[in-house]
Amino acid sequence: MTDRKVRVRFAPSPTGPLHIGGVRTALFNYLFAKKHQGDFVLRIEDTDQTRFVEGAEEYINESLTWLGMTIDEGVAQGGEFGPYKQSERKEIYIQYADKLINDGWAYYAFDTPEELEAKREDAEAEKTKFSYDMNTRMGLKNSLSLSAEEVEKLKTEGVPYVVRFKMPENEEVSAVDMIRGEVKFNTAILDDKVIFKSDGLPTYHLANVVDDYLMKISHVIRGEEWLPSMPLHIMLYRALGWEDERPEFAHLPLILKPTGKGKLSKRDGDKAGFPVFPLEWKSPEGEIASGYRESGYLSEAVVNLLALLGWNPGTEQEIFSMEQLTEAFSIERVNKSGARFDPEKAKWFNHQYVVNMSDEDLAKQFVSELTSRNIEADFTLVVKAVSLVKERISFVSELWDQVSFFFEAPTEYDPKVVKKRWKGDVPAFMAELTGSLDQVSEWKAEVIKEAISAKIEEKGLGFGLVMNAFRLALVGGGFGPDLMTIAELLGKENTIQRVKNAIEVLA
Ligand code: GLU
Repeated sequence: MTDRKVRVRFAPSPTGPLHIGGVRTALFNYLFAKKHQGDFVLRIEDTDQTRFVEGAEEYINESLTWLGMTIDEGVAQGGEFGPYKQSERKEIYIQYADKLINDGWAYYAFDTPEELEAKREDAEAEKTKFSYDMNTRMGLKNSLSLSAEEVEKLKTEGVPYVVRFKMPENEEVSAVDMIRGEVKFNTAILDDKVIFKSDGLPTYHLANVVDDYLMKISHVIRGEEWLPSMPLHIMLYRALGWEDERPEFAHLPLILKPTGKGKLSKRDGDKAGFPVFPLEWKSPEGEIASGYRESGYLSEAVVNLLALLGWNPGTEQEIFSMEQLTEAFSIERVNKSGARFDPEKAKWFNHQYVVNMSDEDLAKQFVSELTSRNIEADFTLVVKAVSLVKERISFVSELWDQVSFFFEAPTEYDPKVVKKRWKGDVPAFMAELTGSLDQVSEWKAEVIKEAISAKIEEKGLGFGLVMNAFRLALVGGGFGPDLMTIAELLGKENTIQRVKNAIEVLA
């Protein structure tokens, strides 16, 4: 790497919710910046006004904040290279479009959309493809084919025009992509792209290159879908005389569908029931798309799972905090080939983070669930309860089903378990058992167990049968953690009461 200060940018267009592919791009930029003590810039690329969606910019900010990616410079943060929103930089782009025209690198084109469409149709009829390029430009309506007077006349008449880049006719160009290696191309296969539109705004290409240069961006790290734009961008840097300050490029691999075939789309998530967006998104039409945050994912787990989509540490380690990722990350370990998204693995990551949370932190998160159910529980009991079951869950939202019996006595009993366990001598035995339980002086799991075992022995019943019936009485079914621990935590009175309830209800 050169010794230039590392400055990277995440440059989303506010056209809707940020897909996790975009979030992963932001993350790799962030990690790269932090690894090299550089700056992470957020630039809003909103020059395509037809695709602007209300609320998208706020969504981008909120997503990055939730995931812990601190923005060094951006619309909200400010910075010495602002404004950071392209629609506020119009004047700047006009200057550079003019410079390209004056230097012979670009030209005005007056062709109407209808005329171009007709050309396309003609070409199609002849089974070819129309391209606005070195072969066709002189036969079209532009400042290369028309006289200076004609051009002036059209402009003064207010005829709409665009500015096109005049691609050189036959030049071999080679550039290095940090992930893909050398990328070679001949300019002869490239067309004359529009760089400035008739609405007075630049296209993505011009704005992107001008801003990366003016904002002193050292590395452009972006999705693979932008790889085809790289040749034009390289040519723009050359045309503007900025080749020596051109950023390095790295094009990240696609995130693929769970099947491994094709790019992961919003529809894949809808079909299989996993989110493809960081946060829930409500479209202006009122349609809701689910988000990782609202689905109960912890932000640390999302960061971790995204980091491993297309990057690997070269070791077996899978669990990484943001700090550890910053340490370990390197562009050299980003793969060329697409990264398959596995929704089960995503859950697994969340499970790991839930299990590794302290019992107290997990309990704190669970308290809000209890409060919403009007349950005021002793915090020590909540901590103990979640500690017993956390290995079994992937999401905090799954806790209630696992531990509800600690906070509410069962009112219903699983009929299957009743049929299998609550039969023969069992109800009568249970009635007697309440007496033995009452005698237990020290209400501790081992002591309770001793008392029950003694009673079972005395009556000559099966240990398993009794234990399952006892569980049914305490939790209402055949599930839950260690039974004696449940009894201990419920307390003596509560335990005895539950056995009595079961006898009564199931009689
Ligand atoms: N505005 C482009 C996007 O929405 C940015 C691409 C780039 O990073 O150059 O992804």
